[in-house]
Amino acid sequence: DEVLVEVNNLTKYFPIGSGGFLRKKVTELKAVDGVTFAVHHGETLGLVGESGSGKTTVGKCVLQLHRPTSGEVSFKGKNLVGLTDKQLRPFRPKLQVIFQDPYESLNPRFTAYDIITEPLRLHHASKDECRNRVKELLDIVGLAPYMAERYPHEFSGGQRQRLGVARALALQPEFIVCDEPLSALDVSIQAQVLNLLDDLQRQFGVAYLFISHDLSVVRHISHRVGVMYLGKIMEIAPRDALYERPLHPYTQALLSAVPVPDPKVEAKRKVILLQGEPPSPLNPPSGCVFHPRCPKAFEECKNVVPLLNDAGNGHFVACLLHKTSWP
Ligand code: SF4
Repeated sequence: DEVLVEVNNLTKYFPIGSGGFLRKKVTELKAVDGVTFAVHHGETLGLVGESGSGKTTVGKCVLQLHRPTSGEVSFKGKNLVGLTDKQLRPFRPKLQVIFQDPYESLNPRFTAYDIITEPLRLHHASKDECRNRVKELLDIVGLAPYMAERYPHEFSGGQRQRLGVARALALQPEFIVCDEPLSALDVSIQAQVLNLLDDLQRQFGVAYLFISHDLSVVRHISHRVGVMYLGKIMEIAPRDALYERPLHPYTQALLSAVPVPDPKVEAKRKVILLQGEPPSPLNPPSGCVFHPRCPKAFEECKNVVPLLNDAGNGHFVACLLHKTSWP
């Protein structure tokens, strides 16, 4: 399949502390530290990890809402990093976002009509075009036409997320970052929104970067899945390979905590408990960043940084136990 978005050795460091009058040492928070992946046309790449793993920052860097510290983000072969706002403008409609909390991201003083047409008006759509497109978009996301005149507070949580989806679709994007789009919703509503996203992909061929801490949700929607820990990708693989044959000790631990519907399998499930909390990205551990918590760590893990190695069939893993080649 053709590559749509390519991320190459992406880093995002945030300066911390004051560089002011006292010239205190400014340190850096390494939110994203050397991330590489690709998303193909019409594909969903899931990105999982605990909070603070850097997955949201990756999403924002891909959209250039955060400017990366270094690395490349290409859309259809064109590197977006370093472009001015004006140079980015033609790409903006094609790269959209759906946020976690639709309420926070929707202007409460705007009607649904205003919210959906805002991006259209920015791109000089006529009144007639706006009216037709709103009708069409409300229908696509499963909202009744009369809801165009309502304000966000008059919508339920699930309806608001549909409104957020309609706005993201207004300019016919090819790529949407979905950042925890279900976390603010009741479980019963989550499945509906997931199905909507699935349908839209089938209808319009849009690709998703689907960011979530919820492994079951990611399994449902993704074609491939990447696992992040402390700003790095630990493992990335086709969905079934990752869930059924995880190679990285961190992925194995994360998956061991998820209940399985099959009672026979569930009875045998052994939870791998990890020691302690994830370390601070201000002061990441040496060598493999996972080594202080890894049940399989050995001496070398303290000093050698594992690179993402090809384990075959599109499965990549950053662990010294699965090292196929030495640099
Ligand atoms: Fe564990 Fe070592 Fe592999 Fe890191 S490199 S995941 S510490 S075994």
